[in-house]
Amino acid sequence: TDDKPTLRLVTCGSVDDGKSTLVGRLLFDSKMLLDDQLDALAADSKVAGTAGPALDFALLVDGLQAEREQGITIDVAYRFFATRRRRFVVADTPGHVQYTRNMATGASHAELAVVLVDACKGVVSQTRRHSHILALLGVRHVLAAVNKMDLVGFDADRFTAISVAFRTMAEQLGIADVQCIPVVACDGDNVFGNSGRMPWYDGPSVMEHLEAVDVSDGIESRPFRFPVQWVNRPNPEFRGFSGRVAGGTVHCGDPVVVQPSGRRSRISGIVTADGRLQQAVSGQSVTLLLADEVDASRGDVLTSGTPPMVTDHIAAHLIWFDDEAMRRGRRYVLKSGTSSIGAVVSTMKHRVSIETMAKESALTLEANEIGCVEVVLDRPLVCDAYRDNRDLGSFILIDPFSRRTVAAGLVDAPLRRPANVS
Ligand code: GDP
Repeated sequence: TDDKPTLRLVTCGSVDDGKSTLVGRLLFDSKMLLDDQLDALAADSKVAGTAGPALDFALLVDGLQAEREQGITIDVAYRFFATRRRRFVVADTPGHVQYTRNMATGASHAELAVVLVDACKGVVSQTRRHSHILALLGVRHVLAAVNKMDLVGFDADRFTAISVAFRTMAEQLGIADVQCIPVVACDGDNVFGNSGRMPWYDGPSVMEHLEAVDVSDGIESRPFRFPVQWVNRPNPEFRGFSGRVAGGTVHCGDPVVVQPSGRRSRISGIVTADGRLQQAVSGQSVTLLLADEVDASRGDVLTSGTPPMVTDHIAAHLIWFDDEAMRRGRRYVLKSGTSSIGAVVSTMKHRVSIETMAKESALTLEANEIGCVEVVLDRPLVCDAYRDNRDLGSFILIDPFSRRTVAAGLVDAPLRRPANVS
């Protein structure tokens, strides 16, 4: 069962649209809560020794890893279920308008979003707001569950009208893949199997779609990225670099460049707990051996293909979390992957309306606001644009005095220094 692929989902919708009912239904119907996985998780959380119980579940989820290390309390509940074909991790976020940060955190981990739409109300401003955040965070696959079809008499025309409105909006936002499904979450119609009450619908059920949807988006054929988590040196003969492949594929014999130093070497071995591999792909945790005695340590990134950015000045979108507003010129700590670097927000360019995505002039960012800024770092960071690599393109800002995570950031572009390709 271990090699089953995992699909990461986020659910969104207004309060009372039926999110909990739908997720509860999926859990109940799949009847396969992964007890063993939850046990393993409990052991993991003891080792990590992080914050409260809700966040311990986040240990299973990749993405803005550093925010967990920082123990921020974000109101996102993770739930797990599985079928014969796939494992699922659901980030369940509260629907209140003000909790942009919760939704952003859930969505930053997600490959697919399930957006609940109440069949009585159709596409409302909250649907639009959530879809904007999904688009900003690079969620390219959306399942629109048009719920409470029983309350509109299972009307096919109603469903079609809502589907058209939803697709039009998603297209404008550049969301590539949309599947609309009419459901009655509380009774299970079109949740697992199909519904005798909506014979006019001949598409997949929610579960059929979740099991089949292809969310790989070519991540395995993108440039290779491997942030070094630690140097594995059990004896003088063995020196490996341990971490998780954060993009692309690596083979034995491949040439690699260590960033930010720009030193070159070649992969001489790929080691896992279960033995040696010829190749490793995005998402796999491995130890890589290099042919040369090159220096690399935690925070460095092994790369090949298009070089990443190595820069101390970046343009980024910030999603502000903290109740204390952003202060230009104030010192923060930027954490990205395995790096921590002192940073200041040098320029506030504009705020982004969550309602319309329009640019608005602003001097600062308050909690749950999104804006475009420039950040200057104490030393160069190895990163990619968020659109190219969600792991190397995301960061958090920490207030060094309160130790709170004050913002999540998405890298738009470097503003100085090309990558090192000596
Ligand atoms: P959430 O706030 O989005 O998590 O919504 P809930 O799952 O708590 O559901 C809100 C209410 O809608 C509850 O009373 C549910 O029983 C009800 N509900 C959920 N799905 C349906 C449905 O398909 N039809 C009807 N009539 N009610 C539903």
